[in-house]
Amino acid sequence: MDCKEILALLPAYVDQELGVSESIEVDNHVLGCLSCQNELASQNALRGALKKHATYFKAPNHLENHIRAALPLDNAHSGRSGKPALKWLGPFNWFSFGTAITSVVALTLSVSFYLAIPSPNDLLAEDVVSNHVRSLMVNHIADVTSSDHHTVKPWFNGKLDFSPTVSDLTAQGFPLVGGRLDYLDHRSVAALVYRHRQHLINVYIWPVANKQNIAVKTLSSQGYQLLHWAEGGMVYWVVSDLNPRELLFLALILQAQGSQGSS
Ligand SMILES: [Zn+2]
Repeated sequence: MDCKEILALLPAYVDQELGVSESIEVDNHVLGCLSCQNELASQNALRGALKKHATYFKAPNHLENHIRAALPLDNAHSGRSGKPALKWLGPFNWFSFGTAITSVVALTLSVSFYLAIPSPNDLLAEDVVSNHVRSLMVNHIADVTSSDHHTVKPWFNGKLDFSPTVSDLTAQGFPLVGGRLDYLDHRSVAALVYRHRQHLINVYIWPVANKQNIAVKTLSSQGYQLLHWAEGGMVYWVVSDLNPRELLFLALILQAQGSQGSS
């Protein structure tokens, strides 16, 4: 099977609805195909996020009663007696009733689906937090450990297709710890690590095709604070357990440094 055929099967594969032979074909293909691996990973992530964030509503009892009341009673088979068949529901009424129910179900499903689907930024925020936590857990906070931006910035040369702005912000209370390569939004990105008191802060930077500037947005995920913005063709994601106010202060400093084109 080629990638096109595999991609068509991936949703069913993720939902474990494929037969054994098709599953094995997908397994074999994905093992040797990076782009299908990436697609599989993102479909798995979406499936996980849907399961985690989906909102479930139990239908109220009176809805069931309404539907039962509207159904014709078949005295010959229902075994119940005493309730008249709803003879007034002719074919046309049935059609209207069916259409109405279908519309309500479709509307409910689309609203639920809309509410349940996390935005791309929500998914990216989860990845940003995961990468931050992983960098702390495996004690691999930096590939190049230095507070000197003249050491950290050149370290990225040849490792990335762009040159991130690296500033030592010791004077502003955010000494540079170092830098590292990381992977976000399907690409290699620069991770700069700053420290404020005992808090470590990851600043992820990568270029975006869309050069549109985006003002700083704050959000929190899994107990961490995140900020992101875009400026000068670069997107920035900042994550830490630092409080939002001080993190915002760092963002403003980074924005000022970025607009000065400091290195
Ligand atoms: Zn493929």
